[in-house]
Amino acid sequence: EKAQIGVTGLAVMGRNLARNFARHGHTVALHNRSYGRTKELVEEFGHEGKFIPSESAADFVASLERPRRVVIMVKAGGPTDAVIDEFAPLLEPGDMLIDAGNAHYLDTRRREAALKAKGLHFVGAGVSGGEEGALHGPSIMPGGPKESYDALGPLLEDIAAKVDGEPCCVHVGPDGAGHFVKMVHNGIEYADMQLIAEAYDLLRQVGGHEPAEIAEIFQGWNEGRLGSYLIEITAEVLKQVDAETGKPFVDIVVDQAEQKGTGRWTVQAALDLGVPVSGIAESVFARALSGGADVRKAAADAALPGPVPAKNYAGDLQADVEQALFASKIVAYAQGFQQIQAASKEYGWDIDPGAMAKIWRAGCIIRAKFLDFIKQAYDKRPELATLLVDDYFLDAVSGAQDAWRRVAAAAAQQGIPAPGFASALAYYDGLRAKRLPAALIQGQRDFFGAHTYHRVDKDGSFHTLWATDDRKEVDA
Ligand code: NDP
Repeated sequence: EKAQIGVTGLAVMGRNLARNFARHGHTVALHNRSYGRTKELVEEFGHEGKFIPSESAADFVASLERPRRVVIMVKAGGPTDAVIDEFAPLLEPGDMLIDAGNAHYLDTRRREAALKAKGLHFVGAGVSGGEEGALHGPSIMPGGPKESYDALGPLLEDIAAKVDGEPCCVHVGPDGAGHFVKMVHNGIEYADMQLIAEAYDLLRQVGGHEPAEIAEIFQGWNEGRLGSYLIEITAEVLKQVDAETGKPFVDIVVDQAEQKGTGRWTVQAALDLGVPVSGIAESVFARALSGGADVRKAAADAALPGPVPAKNYAGDLQADVEQALFASKIVAYAQGFQQIQAASKEYGWDIDPGAMAKIWRAGCIIRAKFLDFIKQAYDKRPELATLLVDDYFLDAVSGAQDAWRRVAAAAAQQGIPAPGFASALAYYDGLRAKRLPAALIQGQRDFFGAHTYHRVDKDGSFHTLWATDDRKEVDA
């Protein structure tokens, strides 16, 4: 008997994906650079299903039914290229290489084009949900050629998370589309986490609540419109007490957030596309600020002056923070979805944004009830320019507005950094503005660089002769 699918790269993610396929009744071919991991998997989990382990790449390939489906789950970057170089010569036209690691979408585009020339299907598939998701049902975002989905999709849909029986897996679009969407998913995850962290900080510093009390507040929020995996685990983390010291866990952890890079990639891609993903950018920068130990030490040594949190608030802080969190979250998602739409247009991917919201409802880190509303918004209006003008989100944000402003103002007045809340609000006000000071910037650009400007009252490009006495306007 041959295997329906193979997995090469059997560290924690690959091992769990392989087990997931096997638990769904598929025969799974196994391979890893070093045979130890393959052997271990079969010894520990062999009873879970049918596995065909191979020591060599050639035996592994030979153990697969055609068209061959080879999932690569190795370290992103050079290792992925090394594995592709090893397997491509062993495969035949119509076979599929599926990169399920966290590849950069431009690498995926490059690899897809190179393998297409050899008649191979290369599928860059975003997989979210961490090791638990890989085992019990991740959210899967496969890109690559549409026809490969016919032979591959059903297997991926089998192992994906389900919502009301519907799989969290859909063909996203050609070449790098799947990895792009996975990248933006991670960027949104960064923003979500930063906003939650700011909410916690305000409840603690302005509200004077202890972490255990804040855990209860989050548990309450989790029952409402903010209900999501990230809110749920935040409550768990805040409840945690350090066994050694008896202190809240959050107080014994070094306050320097690390990152593996997908948030940064999202912002870099957004800069290239010209999409203002300020919520994601602020969250990446906030992590970088937290991790800048030298700069923070210099600031501490200089005792940069500022207000001490007053622990007072005119209003219902808890309710206001919930509103500010929800509104800021809407902005971050609106920006992320705008980025997906911009890339889809740029690369001709034809991504259905509503379908992305749909497959993020379970399995992945940003899973939330909230995504249902995003799906509905795009189902109603696929060409929606921004989620902020959809009825549901417009209502939510206008309802939250007063509270959002009070919270951002309190943070600023009491000297508590809340870049996520503040920048989301600034973005919202920027969109609302009838006139922006961008007109002045155009004037400055024309002054020093003769970059020209457009007028509100007539067509054409104009330049003012700033260096002359009468500063006459001319057609440019
Ligand atoms: P690692 O990223 O730690 O990679 C280890 C695996 O890569 C091992 O199987 C290792 O083989 C193999 N490998 C490394 N270098 C090479 C090489 N040059 N040639 C062949 N094989 C090589 O494993 P993870 O399971 O943590 O992650 C796998 C992928 O999944 C990564 O791309 C990662 O970014 C992504 N990931 C995704 C997560 C998610 O939530 N979606 C979570 C975690 C990771 P060997 O045993 O021989 O050393």
